[in-house]
Amino acid sequence: MRLAIFGPPGSGKGTQSTRLANSYNLTIISTGDLIREAIAAGTPCGREAESYVRHGELVPGKVVRELANQAIAKQGYSEFILDGYPRTLEQAGWLSEYLKSYNARLQCVVSLMVPDEILVSRLSRRRLHRETGQIYHLDYSPPPPDIPPEEIIQRLDDHPEAILIRLETYRAETFPVEDYYRRKGILIEIDGTGDVESIQSRIVKHVDRFSTLMPA
Ligand code: ADP
Repeated sequence: MRLAIFGPPGSGKGTQSTRLANSYNLTIISTGDLIREAIAAGTPCGREAESYVRHGELVPGKVVRELANQAIAKQGYSEFILDGYPRTLEQAGWLSEYLKSYNARLQCVVSLMVPDEILVSRLSRRRLHRETGQIYHLDYSPPPPDIPPEEIIQRLDDHPEAILIRLETYRAETFPVEDYYRRKGILIEIDGTGDVESIQSRIVKHVDRFSTLMPA
């Protein structure tokens, strides 16, 4: 199966793609994670990307394209879920062409819909455990007291200025991509509010129905 998951920053893409990957035995290809790994490793791609990420702006397309294509090839062009890619119409075009050259295409695109005020609260109060990447929310799922405070960190781009830019960029650049997949008839829109399990079961119900209608 070849899936993609869309949603504004803070919509729970990461959480839901982990669950979908487990349910359908897929590998997650998250361009955000690939970029953060490249930054941490100090590779040429990472050095080029860092200031864009810090400001909440999109990283230049060619960097993302290279990272995503490599990951898709490594995965044998199937059994993956794309998280955060494609994010512009240009990237969507590249992806279609790239998959087409291997006789493949995306089968289903999940879009998580969450109102802005919930997104801002989720992102500004989000914290991570440095070592495991486990996500916490200061109000709803605070880090356990046995973790030393210095090990609880905030993501490089979870500060107010970058959050606003990420939300605006999503509206300007990524909304049109949802429309592109809607016109192809493969977009599933899911209410991304409520608890993690309910959202997951909404997604699975639709993906199951969809995958029988849209064979590879
Ligand atoms: P979020 O959706 O919460 O912003 P991500 O982890 O998906 O989080 O992305 C974090 C940052 O990584 C983005 O703000 C952007 O700078 C960069 N990035 C991720 N995916 C892409 C992409 N497909 N194209 C350009 N930049 C990207």
